[in-house]
Amino acid sequence: MARYDYDLFVIGGGSGGVRAARVAASLGKRVAIAEEYRFGGTCVIRGCVPKKLFVYASQFPEHFEDAAGYGWTVGESSFDWPTLIANKDREIGRLEAIYEMGVQKAGGETFHSRAVLVDAHTVLIEAENRTVTAEHILIATGGRANPHAALPGHELCILSDHAFHLDTLPKSIVIAGGGYIAVEFANIFHGLGVETTLVYRGKEILGRFDMDLRTMLHDTMVSKGIRILCQTIFEKIEKRADGRLDAHLNDGEVLVADQIMLALGRTPNTENLGLEAAGVAVGKIDEIVVDDYSRTNVSNIYAVGDVTNRVQLTPVAIHEAMCFVDTVFRGKPTKPDLDCVATAVFSQPEIGTVGLSEEDAGNRYDEVEIYRATFRPMRNVLGNRQEKMLVKLVVDAASRIVVGAHILGPDAGELAQLLGIAVKAKLTKDDFDATMAVHPTAAEELVTMYTPSYRLKGGERIG
Ligand code: NDP
Repeated sequence: MARYDYDLFVIGGGSGGVRAARVAASLGKRVAIAEEYRFGGTCVIRGCVPKKLFVYASQFPEHFEDAAGYGWTVGESSFDWPTLIANKDREIGRLEAIYEMGVQKAGGETFHSRAVLVDAHTVLIEAENRTVTAEHILIATGGRANPHAALPGHELCILSDHAFHLDTLPKSIVIAGGGYIAVEFANIFHGLGVETTLVYRGKEILGRFDMDLRTMLHDTMVSKGIRILCQTIFEKIEKRADGRLDAHLNDGEVLVADQIMLALGRTPNTENLGLEAAGVAVGKIDEIVVDDYSRTNVSNIYAVGDVTNRVQLTPVAIHEAMCFVDTVFRGKPTKPDLDCVATAVFSQPEIGTVGLSEEDAGNRYDEVEIYRATFRPMRNVLGNRQEKMLVKLVVDAASRIVVGAHILGPDAGELAQLLGIAVKAKLTKDDFDATMAVHPTAAEELVTMYTPSYRLKGGERIG
């Protein structure tokens, strides 16, 4: 007779939780997973996937504009928001089913319920009002958008979750934040014809990214017609008699918009999860504290993904889940490797990036070489689109290793995936130089920048 009902109980059916449940079940383990909302989690249901569908939708006006230069006459076009929402929802429903069925097909059990810890080995399945026991428990409850409760009138604002289900497309929107979500949605709404303003507290959008990417994206967004206000914050939000909203800024300006969206980071979902009852420790922002193997202070309880507030990216949560399965069920203790995580911002133009920014490399290495090219990608020429592309390599001069690669331009996300392999493998600039160019592509610039554009010594530019 087994001591516990399950070998593994997973709380949270997002990218990390579903992956751990499916793979552990496929190893013959007795696995159950509970999800209180919809299987697929933030990424599939209200994050990466619907966002990318929105990005595609928002790019059509530029395609229509550019078509003329290629000889096409495009008839009058119009956009129907409810059609986009319905088609997006259908696709999300399809993926949701695949996520849940994947666990079931592997032999795992799925619960549509909130689950909370009762003690270190016991979980309450709320919808069934019964408890079950498990030898191991994995918490993968993700995070939620920060509602910025300290802002007077914050309840009048929408969060990214709501942006996926608005009844009507607003005519104007003000978005607060300068991170991934704020920047991506500013481009989405602008592309769909919404008058868009971005309000960011810092000096330049997209903190932590290479400064070249930040300034060039900022300038391009402005040239497209997006208003960006940096070093500015909201003081309060008020509703007008006509139903529109006033955003009062710290410099006295009042912005009027149909919708105001807050994209001010995400908070780990640890509330009312029974962590105290089980003795699981949390950190400063209530994230679950884990060691290098994703193990909490309670030896049989692990946590992966955004709830641990390490690197808030879907592929990272999935990687952490795979390492968890290796550690706990395959007898192969494995630490997630979070070095050199390639990432993309689906702005317009896109950012694709991996490794160190110029500034971080300058602080880490004695001498750094920067190889940098800006040019108009061929696809923009006939359409007379002035937008430029940036390709940049950051090289440690002593070892010749390419320690950072940064792209702004069409398909930069796709390029970042491939560059991620090269940078992760610590290839040198000489390896890049020895690689034959693929012509005619924009990416060929990556292997044809033979002389440094400039150098850094002790972090300072020396020409
Ligand atoms: P980010 O951490 O990227 O950005 C949060 C932004 O909010 C920052 O610009 C921050 O400013 C600002 N901010 C935070 N608190 C306040 C405040 N009190 N007042 C004013 N501004 C504030 O979070 P997001 O919400 O954009 O996205 C959450 C996470 O989701 C990201 O970290 C990312 O990992 C992930 N994500 C990934 C995507 C992708 O891979 N393409 C797409 C979308 C999300 P400051 O810079 O000054 O701290």
